[in-house]
Amino acid sequence: MSSPQISFEFFPPKTAEGTEKLHVTRARLSLLKPKFMSVTFGASGSTQQGTFDTALEIVSDGFDAVPHLSCIGASKQSLRGILAQYHAHGIQHIVALRGDLPPGMKKVGELHYACELVAFVRAEYGNWFHIEVAAYPEYHPQAKSPRADLENFVRKVKAGANSAITQYFYNADAYFRFVNDVHKLGVDIPITPGVMPITNYTQLMRFSAMCGAEVPKWIARRLESFGDDRDAIQAFGLDVVTAMCERLIMNGAPGLHFYTLNSAVESKTICERLNI
Ligand code: FAD
Repeated sequence: MSSPQISFEFFPPKTAEGTEKLHVTRARLSLLKPKFMSVTFGASGSTQQGTFDTALEIVSDGFDAVPHLSCIGASKQSLRGILAQYHAHGIQHIVALRGDLPPGMKKVGELHYACELVAFVRAEYGNWFHIEVAAYPEYHPQAKSPRADLENFVRKVKAGANSAITQYFYNADAYFRFVNDVHKLGVDIPITPGVMPITNYTQLMRFSAMCGAEVPKWIARRLESFGDDRDAIQAFGLDVVTAMCERLIMNGAPGLHFYTLNSAVESKTICERLNI
């Protein structure tokens, strides 16, 4: 098996303890020589400074930093300001998203969908940025239909996206089908599977219900049966996710993007088991 390109995603820490933990995590994961490290962006810019600061730390460690940017609730002026900061610091790679409005917030902003943000970034900065967008092998929960969601993905690519990262999934067939379906619609940009290691049953089920990712019944029932036995959950999770990653790579996925939740151990173990 050839060595696939890997990348890691972090969220900007809010406390001194979280910052210290992320330093240690990044140091451990940098040994695996990732293609890039991405940093999430809180709803409506709530982590704007943290995303920026974490991205600059990644750059100063010598890695390609990829800040996420969402447009919902934002003005074009504020988006321009953020892009200008990245440009000024030589950052040339972003993940462009719609994002979700925080509960209670009604102002949608000037750009309503990620395809509009992609077009905006291209209009403002030409080809300076390599733009990643989100892909949903199990379809976005708000999509009118699977077909409408595939068409939205194509719109993002036509607007100028260079590559994509998927929502996490535990059913590799959904990924292969998605890639196949968008190929038929004329899209051939790299679509990297997003990989969520399994560490905590309750948290996984909560996250998955929110973002529309399916946890197959056989996985959910096994995890539930382990109760509070964290070691058993971790061991089972590593087996299941490693096997899925192996299948993805063997069947042509261009790489793996790990949702690390700022923890190194699971992503590192999976990469080691895959000989990456
Ligand atoms: P879009 O591509 O705009 O799609 C959103 C929905 O609108 C879809 O249902 C689509 O089918 C529908 N749609 C699109 N165009 C139209 C139209 N013209 N008419 C009607 N419906 C339409 N969230 C964060 O807050 N911060 C992050 O850092 C972050 N990082 C992420 C990274 C990845 C790799 C992924 C997969 C998700 C990430 N998210 C993040 C979550 C993301 O913001 C949410 O899933 C959000 O609900 C959708 O964003 P999007 O960019 O996929 O939206």
